[in-house]
Amino acid sequence: MKEEIKRLTLPRICAHPDAPNGCGKIIRAHTIQMRGGLSALAEADHVMELLLDDGVLHKVPKGIRVASTFEGFCKAHDGTLFAPVETRQRHIDLIALYLFAFRALAYSRHRKAIALERVARYRRLDAGFPLWAQARFQRRILAMQVGSTRSAADLAAMKNRLDRMYRSGNYSGFHAAGWLFSELLPLAYSGAFYPEYDFRGVPLQRLGHGDASFEILCATLTPWNGMTLLVLAWIGEPDGPAERYVRSFQALADDQKANAAMHAGFEDQENLIMRPSWWNNLPTAAREALEAMRMAGTEAGSNKTPRDLNNAQPTLSAAAVKAIYHFSGANPESG
Ligand SMILES: [Zn+2]
Repeated sequence: MKEEIKRLTLPRICAHPDAPNGCGKIIRAHTIQMRGGLSALAEADHVMELLLDDGVLHKVPKGIRVASTFEGFCKAHDGTLFAPVETRQRHIDLIALYLFAFRALAYSRHRKAIALERVARYRRLDAGFPLWAQARFQRRILAMQVGSTRSAADLAAMKNRLDRMYRSGNYSGFHAAGWLFSELLPLAYSGAFYPEYDFRGVPLQRLGHGDASFEILCATLTPWNGMTLLVLAWIGEPDGPAERYVRSFQALADDQKANAAMHAGFEDQENLIMRPSWWNNLPTAAREALEAMRMAGTEAGSNKTPRDLNNAQPTLSAAAVKAIYHFSGANPESG
């Protein structure tokens, strides 16, 4: 049963806002584009993937054709939807940042759907245990199931809103910020997460308490024209957790931002792609610290503790900020 759970990769459905209309075959869609993205980090056509799967941290060299992929889009829609950020004349505007956010959200929603399926199967793993052990096991699994169900529902709700924006062309309520760093960072990521603490370690929202809706941030760190672009995007209340998270990043000194963005990846992102020699040449202590950061807050790691990411150690980058972008969607009918 454990093997069966590990192999579970459902669901294989296309995340395009129009799906299933116009869908083709489901493919392994990249969360970081291959050409100019993964290829910029690759050595001998391979990148290093740091993927936490089922409580185990996997560090695997992956060919750029399969690295960072998930079976979440069909071939037809993956090509057309992301063309504005993957073809040659691309530029950074509201739609470009929306597309990065959409892909990050689609990835996390897909991963959460798998997690939810797995947890449902875990509930049968205690068959044959003594009654006291079954009770303890079921209590633990139930907590996981409640958490996964909640975040799957929040991700689905945000996906519905982004779908409606795309279909109507009305992006009001969508907010995005981007920072272009002056050099290529050795790290990339794409995913959606609940911001629990801001960049200075200030609490933003307490998960697992009460019924208030939690805000989600979509984050993407990707090579962009030989440099690296960070995109943070959200739908939320003015002065809400997501907006305050972004503001705390903006408030960091410019020479701290790339370093903080890299640390934030190890804190919050499930889908981390690295240049292999960068990772392999890090001092052992630094590598272990980053792995522990990645594991914190998961079933198999220590508790997550708030950290001040200003001047975060180990120092991973001192890249400067070359450009800053802010977009908020407007209702086209309001002019
Ligand atoms: Zn499709």
